[in-house]
Amino acid sequence: MSESFERRMKGMPVSPGIAVGCLRVEARGCSAPVTRNILPTEMEREWARFESALAKTEEELHSLKERVAHLSGATEAAIFDAHLLFLRDRTILSRLRKEFPARMQNIDAVYYAVVQNFMEIMRHVDDAYLRSRVTDIGDVLQRVLKNMAPPVAGVGTTSSPCGCDPYVLAAYDLTPSDTADLDPRTVLGFVTEVGSAVSHTAILARSLGIPAVVGVPHLVIDSRVGCQAVLDGYNGLLILNPTAETLAHYRELQAEKEKAYAALEQLKNLPAETLDGHRIRLAANVEFAHEYGAIRRSGAEGVGLYRTEFFLLGGGSLPDEDAQYEHYRNLVESCAPHEVIFRTLDSGGDKLPFEVLEEKEDNPFLGWRGIRVSLSRPEVFKEQLRAILRASAHGKVGVMFPMVSGITEVKEVHALLDECRAELRERSLPYDEHMRVGVMIEVPSAAMMSDVLARHVDFFSIGTNDLTQYTIAVDRVNFRVSGMFRPTHPGVIRMIRQTISAGIPTAICGEMGSDINLLPLLVGLGATELSVGTHLLPLIRFAIRNLRYDECKAMAEQSLLAEDSYTIRNLSQELARKSYPSLFS
Ligand code: PEP
Ligand code: MG
Repeated sequence: MSESFERRMKGMPVSPGIAVGCLRVEARGCSAPVTRNILPTEMEREWARFESALAKTEEELHSLKERVAHLSGATEAAIFDAHLLFLRDRTILSRLRKEFPARMQNIDAVYYAVVQNFMEIMRHVDDAYLRSRVTDIGDVLQRVLKNMAPPVAGVGTTSSPCGCDPYVLAAYDLTPSDTADLDPRTVLGFVTEVGSAVSHTAILARSLGIPAVVGVPHLVIDSRVGCQAVLDGYNGLLILNPTAETLAHYRELQAEKEKAYAALEQLKNLPAETLDGHRIRLAANVEFAHEYGAIRRSGAEGVGLYRTEFFLLGGGSLPDEDAQYEHYRNLVESCAPHEVIFRTLDSGGDKLPFEVLEEKEDNPFLGWRGIRVSLSRPEVFKEQLRAILRASAHGKVGVMFPMVSGITEVKEVHALLDECRAELRERSLPYDEHMRVGVMIEVPSAAMMSDVLARHVDFFSIGTNDLTQYTIAVDRVNFRVSGMFRPTHPGVIRMIRQTISAGIPTAICGEMGSDINLLPLLVGLGATELSVGTHLLPLIRFAIRNLRYDECKAMAEQSLLAEDSYTIRNLSQELARKSYPSLFS
């Protein structure tokens, strides 16, 4: 396998854009060594380099063990026994013996890749003790890498040393926190081995405007640090060592796309209205406080979903009432005269934890999450409700609740809201008596009960990410079943229709709303509002302005009679392609 040839790896596009730069392979806590090709004559020397690093590490670990035993006792020192066992782990060593001649790369790069894959497997085992050992394995890996003498530069070197900035990031996986920490000025794009289009990592990538591709098999083990890479976030491609021709093609495409995007942004003051005069409110999904500028540039009519759980990023917690109020107030004032809809804390499951639980939940997606967390921590919940109510004195505000399953939770929430209003009156703090109150429809039982819920709230916002997950029982973040995650499943479409038929204003705030292929379907089903990421908003506005509502309605009626998700997707896509062909070229 010679890496000087162009190599294309296919994944799933989750955030549009093109990134061209040097590739950095990074796993949590340990960066990959630079990769270079080696000659068969170098193999023996490379292996010797590895053996001597193992021996040196072994010595270090033994002396560390002794020191710790002396200072703190045998129990603390026992940790190094685990390190020593791992150092000579037979699975790793036999995998390395197989990979090394197959890849013909410097031994530290191959060792790194093999151990990274092992660590990822460990991260997902059921046994909590084994999972907790991953950090130790990382420690040992780092130690061995450090103990390898620098590789001798050989022929066939294709990598540039990877201190380069900015770069394209390749990783096995990125958590939402990892993603939120990425600086778009440094990270041109990222690609991961696992992941799905509706994971929070993907949602954040779109928010940050970073091109991203997920689900590239064998990415970490097959990637080479420092080589030139093109990341195509439109088609889900990672191209290593692109030829001059490929590079020229992508530079041209990048320029074209940027021009087209700038042209779309020019339309920002025009309404999101179909050719036959059907008006849709087009608002923004927001996850970061610093998105004010992006909201304004996109021409969004306010915020349709503010994901307040992003306060928890990086291990943070919900700020106190006053700090939240300041934060919400800033957003409300900067979006005036439009409405900002705050979603109360949505933690747990695949999302950031509100607090670390002592016991591991067997089914976290069905467990302590969303509104259930808030209702079981009424004091914390009320602080957030009061902060939102207080912000409503400064502009148009709505509040909505995640993961509602039925009327009982809605009634509990109303009771707490009433208590909060009374407390604010007592403190002589102003709020808007008419602040709109809504629920997210993302649990099938809520969709089925939408006619009843509609009597108790002002609006619905359909979270198609979770509604799809729970309706067809497909984990939204499990890459093994990501091919089955189909929001056009007739079961999902019927629930959307049923919810809209309840007759109160209904928005779509899940990722389905930003898929230009599915826009005709959602408009035809009667959604009154769409809330999408700011980077995609200009595109969606353009698409809406090129649709005819009567055609969408007729197509949606036909879809409701369809038996499978492919037929429904094709019907919508056909109308989309006919209505705005330029977006598909
Ligand atoms: C959804 O579930 O569709 C949604 C918008 O909420 P989140 O993606 O934050 O779960
Ligand atoms: Mg959701």
